[in-house]
Order: sequence, then structure tokens, then C-alpha cells
Amino acid sequence: MGRRRRKVVQVVRRKLPELYLCPKCGKNTVKATVNKKKGRVAVICSDCGLSSYYSLDTNMAGVDAYCLFVDAFYSGDAPEESVVE
Ligand SMILES: [Zn+2]
Repeated sequence: MGRRRRKVVQVVRRKLPELYLCPKCGKNTVKATVNKKKGRVAVICSDCGLSSYYSLDTNMAGVDAYCLFVDAFYSGDAPEESVVE
């Protein structure tokens, strides 16, 4: 029996939120929070309060929502008010 060399694969599943650059204030304070229960993604800048919500598509990750967020901002389509439910 050959000894298999085990590959050391470290899967670190972090719960830490990734922060992205805010297109409005230019700080690294944008957080994309995936809410699977509500089926949506909240993208919020904790510094200037710029926020957007997107419905969660299959395989959509926080970073995808962030891309939409930035796109919307640069196309002048960014919602200034937060959506309150
Ligand atoms: Zn900001």
C-alpha cells in the first residue's frame, strides 16, 4: 500500500464580512450581507450610509451585489434612501 501524501488543504470558513471600497466616500467600508432567509443581499457602506438591496439570485455572492452597487452608483442610479421594511 502506497502512502498517499496528504495535501494540506486548509479550508478556512470565515464568517468575517468582506469589506469593499465605497464608490461614494472612497473608504473600504462597504459590506455585502447575504440574507438567505429574506432572499436578498444588502450592500451598505458603514461610513457614508450608502446602501442598496438586491434580490438574491442563485449563486449570487456578496461580491456580485457589490458590483451591482458600484455600477448603480456610477450610472447615477444609486438610491439615496435606504429601503426600510
Ligand atoms: Zn461610503
